Amino acid sequence: MDFAYDARTEELRTRLTAFMESHVYPAEPVFALQREQAEGDARWSAPPVVEELKAEAKRQGLWNLFLPGERGAGLTNLQYAPLAEITGRSPHLAPPALNCAAPDTGNMEVLSEFGTEQQRKQWLEPLLAGEIRSAFAMTEPDVASSDATNIETRIERDGDSYVVNGRKWYISGAMNPKCAIMIVMGKSDPSAERHRQQSQILVPRDTPGVEVRRGMRVFGYDDGDHGGHAEVVFTDVRVPAENLIGEEGGGFAIAQARLGPGRIHHCMRLIGMAERALELMCRRATDRVAFGKPIAEQGVVQEWIAEARVEIELLRLLVLKTAYLMDTVGNRGAHTEIQSIKIATPAAVVKIIDRAIQVHGAGGVSQDFPLAELWAGARTLRLADGPDEVHKRSLARRELKKYV
Ligand SMILES: Cc1cc2nc3c(=O)[nH]c(=O)nc-3n(C[C@H](O)[C@H](O)[C@H](O)COP(=O)(O)OP(=O)(O)OC[C@H]3O[C@@H](n4cnc5c(N)ncnc54)[C@H](O)[C@@H]3O)c2cc1C
Repeated sequence: MDFAYDARTEELRTRLTAFMESHVYPAEPVFALQREQAEGDARWSAPPVVEELKAEAKRQGLWNLFLPGERGAGLTNLQYAPLAEITGRSPHLAPPALNCAAPDTGNMEVLSEFGTEQQRKQWLEPLLAGEIRSAFAMTEPDVASSDATNIETRIERDGDSYVVNGRKWYISGAMNPKCAIMIVMGKSDPSAERHRQQSQILVPRDTPGVEVRRGMRVFGYDDGDHGGHAEVVFTDVRVPAENLIGEEGGGFAIAQARLGPGRIHHCMRLIGMAERALELMCRRATDRVAFGKPIAEQGVVQEWIAEARVEIELLRLLVLKTAYLMDTVGNRGAHTEIQSIKIATPAAVVKIIDRAIQVHGAGGVSQDFPLAELWAGARTLRLADGPDEVHKRSLARRELKKYV
């Protein structure tokens, strides 16, 4: 077993780390200021500094690293995982700068894998070029959407068109005026077998009948720089039949396919977030003195630091093993591991960031450190892409099957 990264990964890690130090971290205060000053539509778009970072990342060839094959950088999951980790250290800037931000990444993967030539030309190419943004619309306020078979939005065939009706929420990116296209999941045949009722269809955001109603909050944050998390209502939205992705009834299978890579990307970025939190925790504990000695000399703080390091190492090994399995036996063969990291990583990283906040005192929950926002982002990942409990249920069932 070889634990070293290969030469290409090492080379990209070195270049990406240099880009983070020379461009991304120095841009963080500029980004914060631009976000604070943004008004109107600009509130729901990435601030100008992100566009500057995008141009520089593209120039340096640090672009579309997430996408395997010739359309992207052609990296394996194992090669991309440590790079995604580095971008997680600055989750609001680095992933969009490299054109590696969710939900565009998942949408690009879907279009790349299941799209027609025309769909790829119209939507994948501008997404790969970073010219437009996109959204994925599955979750609905009126039904428990962690069980995707509950989805009620209708996608009905009518002549050469499909007509979409329904209400979605927490649709990341959809508030952004640059979000040109949404992949919408709905039911095309409610009488079909449970997992064949759903289809996915491309709906341009400017189609009549699409109403992007409001930005939902996440612990009070609007995530405006990511295009927010929108409530979207579809009323008699008519799109050409060619907009269907794959075949009618294939929506559930496509949704499953997009989640494997998405989960591993989230987990790697979470590890980067945990590394950043641990670094901040150590610096703050060393710098501040309370009751006559640096906070770092308190046994309890040392325990938190040690536990954080152990947990990060455990998580990274499991995520890398998962990436290796996805590359070698495929997403299906890595199912248990993908679920394991999705269960383990957000929960552990939330705890690490929480302790870093504690060590910072009031500063930890303030806008002067990235910790509060990191915590909010990590906490949502115990829900998004499937709540912990749903993954545990499914993992336990597969484990139990070995004994019945
Ligand atoms: C910041 C953020 C961004 C998001 N972005 C998107 C997006 O871009 N597109 C999109 O479509 N959705 C998005 N979502 C929605 C997310 O995917 C859903 O919230 C998630 O799938 C859960 O669905 P739900 O909210 O309807 O919860 P429900 O299905 O109502 O579940 C609520 C709770 O019930 C419990 N539960 C459910 N099933 C079980 C079980 N089998 N065993 C035990 N307990 C169970 C769990 O504790 C679960 O958290 C986002 C969410 C957030 C917070």
